[in-house]
Amino acid sequence: MTNPLYDTLFGQHKGKNTVFLQMANGSTVTHDDFLQLASQYANLFTQLGVQPGDRVAVQIAKSPQALAIYAACVQAGIVFLPLNTAYTADEVSYFAENSGARLILCDDKRHNELEPIAKACGAILETMNADGSGSFTLQAETMPVGFQAVDRTEDDLAAFLYTSGTTGRSKGAMLTQGNLLSNCQALAKEWDFSAKDALLHALPIFHTHGLFVATNVTLLASGRLLFLPRFNLDEMIELMPQATTLMGVPTFYTRLLEDERFTRDLVRHMRLFVSGSAPLLAETHLQFEERTGHRILERYGMTETNMNTSNPYDGERRAGTVGFPLPGVEIKITDSNTGETLPQGEIGEIEVRGPNVFKGYWQMPEKTAEELRENGFFITGDLGQIDEDGYLHIVGRNKDLIISGGYNIYPKEIELLLDEEVGVLESAVIGVPHPDFGETVVGILVSDGKAELDLDAIKQSIGGPLARFKHPQKLVILPELPRNTMGKVQKKELREQYKDMFT
Ligand code: ATP
Ligand code: MG
Repeated sequence: MTNPLYDTLFGQHKGKNTVFLQMANGSTVTHDDFLQLASQYANLFTQLGVQPGDRVAVQIAKSPQALAIYAACVQAGIVFLPLNTAYTADEVSYFAENSGARLILCDDKRHNELEPIAKACGAILETMNADGSGSFTLQAETMPVGFQAVDRTEDDLAAFLYTSGTTGRSKGAMLTQGNLLSNCQALAKEWDFSAKDALLHALPIFHTHGLFVATNVTLLASGRLLFLPRFNLDEMIELMPQATTLMGVPTFYTRLLEDERFTRDLVRHMRLFVSGSAPLLAETHLQFEERTGHRILERYGMTETNMNTSNPYDGERRAGTVGFPLPGVEIKITDSNTGETLPQGEIGEIEVRGPNVFKGYWQMPEKTAEELRENGFFITGDLGQIDEDGYLHIVGRNKDLIISGGYNIYPKEIELLLDEEVGVLESAVIGVPHPDFGETVVGILVSDGKAELDLDAIKQSIGGPLARFKHPQKLVILPELPRNTMGKVQKKELREQYKDMFT
């Protein structure tokens, strides 16, 4: 009887009194405590009639109990489906219905709103709150400890993870045990994780970064998580001396750098800082090195594939790049129209193949066929180029590509120039409808607050190095760029906001 994901990540810790989770207030959960809790949850799933292969949708706050739900699902062969805690009841309704969830777990505050939704899709509704209380936990307390892990193969589904919805409606990515396992094995090795590691964990656990990258890697290596419910500067700085590694989205790093308490001394003992989920500005990378002496390690991944590439642990971590393919992962750059591999150095679609690539989108056979080639390559929707040393550079998303008067314009090229202008903190370049050109370029700027932005001067200054058709027709100033919880800039929102600018 085997359950590869359970045995490797969780089962190996049976009976161990080592600390797995350490909370901000100093309280701890040992590996064995955690497994016992998960086994009670697995027993409760069975009692409630949730079968192997069924989906359990959870929209609950980050807590040790919430993480134990993930472990229990793996142990019971159930498909774990975590949902962004910011989703409205309407959105949860879409995910619950779309996935055919057998059980929905939510906060008590949401119970009444979700009751009719659960009823309509024939799902059981139970609750679990941020402090671990709730109807599910209450029943679980009476359950026996110990649960025989359900037999699974690497090909069986472990999770449905919905994509962030940056470019359109979120899609349910079907991830197998083998997808998750192969990826955390590759990452733990590449990033040299061991039982000595304490990872400062402030990411949400409904997204691949905090859930699979941070948690699975730490479990595999028998390390410890310093488990914060969310990013909180004071707590981050307080706990940093106890950590060896941090995984974050770029905004974690910009926010840490804004705080004077974040010094070289505070992080002298740290081993590794990882960034991903959104592009890290080269400037942040350099500023971080200046302040701390550490180079952030940037990597690239997505819901459908877990992680694909990483800057080297030993070796040069290059700002503005996402490094090399992980062992076992193949990357190629192809022509969007023909699918042919492009010569080295050219910009094209990033395609990826490997044991990390998902099985397809749940109940979206057409979408799956469009993006997942028969030869196993997944068309990521990101555009990139590989430099002469083999580092992958992400240029942007295919859907953000601007086509003006028949010419392709990559927003990143213009954003990099805008970011260099005095007084500009960051920028986003988008295409908006234009009667003559189809689309035209608009640059959105955020000021660094130090000087008044002179838009005409900026236009002039960046105009030099850029071909005429790439010149922004208009520059606009916003107090900040719209971002989601993972720090991703919501260009869809910006395009919507400025869509009538020229019409
Ligand atoms: P949707 O697919 O629903 O539009 P999404 O692609 O934002 O949403 P995720 O799977 O959470 O959903 O994000 C993956 C994307 O994040 C990648 O395709 C890429 O565009 C971006 N990304 C991840 N890491 C990096 C990175 N280091 N640099 C630049 N972009 C990154
Ligand atoms: Mg995507």
